[in-house]
Amino acid sequence: MNKKILCILLSGAILLSLAACKTTTPTSASESTKATASSSTEVTTTSATTETAETTPAEPTGYPEKGCKLEFPSCERYHYKMDLSLDTKENTISGHVDFDFFNDSVDDWDKLCLRDYSSLFKNPEDAGYDKGIKTNGSLTEIKNIKDSRGSNVLEYTREEKDVSVVWIPLNTKLAPGEKMTLSYDFVAKIPTVADRYGVSEEVYNVTNFYPILAEYTSDGWSHIGYYSCGECFYSEISDYDVNLTVPSDMVVLSTGVETGETTSGSSKTISIFAECVRDFVFSGSDRFKIVEGDYKNTHVRTAYVEEEKPEYDKLEAEIAQKAAIDSLAVFGSAFGEYPYKDLEVIIAPISAGGMEYPNLVIISKAFVGTGDPDSSRKEIYRLNADNVVSHEVGHQWFMGIVGSNSGLQPWLDESFASFTEYVYDVAVYPDRDHRLPVTMNDEGSNRIVSINKSYFDYDSDFNYVAAVYWDGKDVLVKMHDVLGEEEFYGIIRKYVHKYAFKNADQMDFFSLLYQYAGTDNKELNDLIYKYFDDSVQPNVFLK
Ligand SMILES: [Zn+2]
Repeated sequence: MNKKILCILLSGAILLSLAACKTTTPTSASESTKATASSSTEVTTTSATTETAETTPAEPTGYPEKGCKLEFPSCERYHYKMDLSLDTKENTISGHVDFDFFNDSVDDWDKLCLRDYSSLFKNPEDAGYDKGIKTNGSLTEIKNIKDSRGSNVLEYTREEKDVSVVWIPLNTKLAPGEKMTLSYDFVAKIPTVADRYGVSEEVYNVTNFYPILAEYTSDGWSHIGYYSCGECFYSEISDYDVNLTVPSDMVVLSTGVETGETTSGSSKTISIFAECVRDFVFSGSDRFKIVEGDYKNTHVRTAYVEEEKPEYDKLEAEIAQKAAIDSLAVFGSAFGEYPYKDLEVIIAPISAGGMEYPNLVIISKAFVGTGDPDSSRKEIYRLNADNVVSHEVGHQWFMGIVGSNSGLQPWLDESFASFTEYVYDVAVYPDRDHRLPVTMNDEGSNRIVSINKSYFDYDSDFNYVAAVYWDGKDVLVKMHDVLGEEEFYGIIRKYVHKYAFKNADQMDFFSLLYQYAGTDNKELNDLIYKYFDDSVQPNVFLK
């Protein structure tokens, strides 16, 4: 049996692809002090983690109002200019990249770390598949690497144990705050698999496909191992200017906003601008049909493929589209308005239940299929669609807007995204019974497996999912019950507002939680004791 087994959450909610490859020793999630761009060696420092364990929680200063605006910061950002070309005969995505960035740490950089996840599909096991399963991947070709400060072509090396880790030694160190442009050409193979990266049934999911700068932390370059059971990506907010050439009959949905299109023979080039996002991805198919609409300033599109009974496929898409728009309304009010002009929902044949990317979510076709809309199963499918769409759209806040190290502190995005399923459900279906499903908790025990461990510290994918997704949702709902909706949503809104477009860690969240809720709330502390490890208990914040 394929190791990518489908695992239906006990809530009847989300299917996740489970795999078992845990080989890389993770680095710490702690963030280094950040430097801002500078043309001199003088460094201005800011930090996403200024409130640390050493400080006694300060008095709260009020919550941002419901539905508050999350404004893009005016500071200088990283910028990827990419000219991309999709070859649907060879199944490759190639391009030229000019990447403008600066050293945002306080350390000199004598080398750069890029992540090239596409290359993992050369060896099925590296991409989370059983040995013997064909993934048709290959190592990405990277050529003509240049540093704008010199004329030499730079060489690169790959880590043997993790081919997604690419090192580029610099001829001249990049000082804190100093800028440079890294240019390179690449050709990446798109595997023929029904995965978050791959082509299946003529639907291309082109994600995590180009070499992207890794995140630099106080422990150096973060390059945790890849796993398919959840998100494992970690990058910096950037702007993207993209020219994407595809076959002229392909319907493309992507991160960012389309700004133009030109057609030449059998191909077309789409211009796209994406502002303040952590990655750029697109999905495309000449079979895509679209359902679309607006929520406030955001255009929402759902792409689907027609099969034997087109009216059913359209109904599925309409259900997903409504769930996406309702999610924007509910989460915008609770956590701060969705700040982007586009949200794309792709209904595609993928092995996981869903996957989140900036401005774009992929939802499993198998998961939202209504089958016969007149059948008794229609309601079950609709509930599934509500659940998986709200979860993935919830990630737009918890991963997209507030970034975090998904591998080392996965609860910061997965537990919160699972909690958004509940937030959505309570708001959209107020008359429904919102009792939590049975979880893996042993209610009789004083403490359970901590939900705030690294992915690599759980001894199985099942235990990781049980802790981070199920128990994580469970404890956040219970915190909500203890503090009340007004206060708990207010604290989360403060967290989102404060760390929007930055990378946060769990100390940032708990620091705010204790500021607002106090360190002496026995009911809350009992929950934190039961579900979290010692690193975030109230006493840590009172030293
Ligand atoms: Zn998730």
